[in-house]
Amino acid sequence: MLTKKKALIIGGGIAGLTCAKVLLSNNLEIEILDASHSSAGPVLTIDKPTCDLIFDIWHVKKDDNIIRAGHVVNKHNVQWGPDNKKSTISRQSVVIDNSILKDELTNCLTKEHNKSLTINNTSSSCDTTSLHYNSIKDCGKSFSWLIDASGRHSDMSNISRTVIRYSFGDRHIISVKCDLTDPSYQNETWIEATNEGWLFVAPLDTSTAILQAMVPFEPNNSATVLKNLLQRTEIINTIVCNIQVSQFVFKGYPDIINPLCGPRWISIGEAAASFDPLSGNGVGYAVRAAVLAASVIKGISSGLSTIDCLNHYSLRIYSAFLSHLRDCLTYYNSGNFSLPAWRYEISLMRKVPGFLANTGPGVFGLKGTDLVPYNKIKSTAKRT
Ligand SMILES: Cc1cc2nc3c(=O)[nH]c(=O)nc-3n(C[C@H](O)[C@H](O)[C@H](O)COP(=O)(O)OP(=O)(O)OC[C@H]3O[C@@H](n4cnc5c(N)ncnc54)[C@H](O)[C@@H]3O)c2cc1C
Repeated sequence: MLTKKKALIIGGGIAGLTCAKVLLSNNLEIEILDASHSSAGPVLTIDKPTCDLIFDIWHVKKDDNIIRAGHVVNKHNVQWGPDNKKSTISRQSVVIDNSILKDELTNCLTKEHNKSLTINNTSSSCDTTSLHYNSIKDCGKSFSWLIDASGRHSDMSNISRTVIRYSFGDRHIISVKCDLTDPSYQNETWIEATNEGWLFVAPLDTSTAILQAMVPFEPNNSATVLKNLLQRTEIINTIVCNIQVSQFVFKGYPDIINPLCGPRWISIGEAAASFDPLSGNGVGYAVRAAVLAASVIKGISSGLSTIDCLNHYSLRIYSAFLSHLRDCLTYYNSGNFSLPAWRYEISLMRKVPGFLANTGPGVFGLKGTDLVPYNKIKSTAKRT
């Protein structure tokens, strides 16, 4: 049973909401502070195992709202590598706007927990850095835990001198809505590498799609960069047309903070570590990190050693991040990225700082959402 009363979660994205969901189910009071104006997030392609994980944690039925709000695809076409050979993977995924997913989950949470949950949306004119800062200062007074879930633009490393953000590249992704040239493409995604960058298309319905393009720098003129890249593709430029003017540019390189947590604060989701969208696994990681953080908070509240729990959390996140960096290296090395800027991006992912090198399996397992010393119940607990 938790002894402390209230946690403040900064950021109401998938990570913050999932962490809130687990803690609320364990009688902790939650306040979520969300900068609603920064919610113009990316469109996400979420694979079936991650959808199942979300259903499981949120106790929603497979045909419930969360999935109905998305568009189902069942084939993924990949044109990658020096010979640019096409391969097709049959696998079900859901394509959904991040802000729609966030709204669906917020509705689920408020319906179920209206008494112990407060959600404060900050206005567009609000200075979120100072809000964040004041929340950290207030944390010890009003809250037993501060959970930073404010995404890849988290201010934590700007606010605290002891928190450092390590970045592994400078690549950026341009994201734009467009039309499909033919409705027969409505159930398939496409990824294609050129020597200057890669592009990804995911249908949003029978006639429209999201087009994303990754380049090894921050583009000044995204429309021109996108147009040039598109012209170099063999397949994707035959699949999309009527590209919209309004484009979004996101950071696409992986990064991570160190430390990830301390007494009474913990960073989760992209505030802790962000993944290259190439992996298609950012949501899966964010959900797992959120559940693990909630388990750590519950474990500490119920008497487990604070140091062991926080170390365990750090080890698990570092280990997930390291394996993401290795996957990125494999993918990018097997692509045909000949530009010096891409060679540089790849070289940066090889320079792993010391704190990441010593990752291990951790000393706890998860039983439901409870952290349990692994050596005590080897037979039933899953290693987290
Ligand atoms: C272009 C792109 C494409 C991607 N595609 C995929 C994909 O196909 N599949 C996949 O699994 N993952 C994908 N990802 C990764 C995925 O978006 C993230 O893993 C996931 O959204 C992380 O969730 P989060 O809750 O940590 O962060 P977010 O979803 O970013 O949520 C952060 C929340 O914090 C709020 N906030 C920010 N600052 C403050 C502040 N100072 N105070 C209060 N609130 C604040 C924001 O409004 C937001 O609601 C992609 C990422 C990008 C950039």
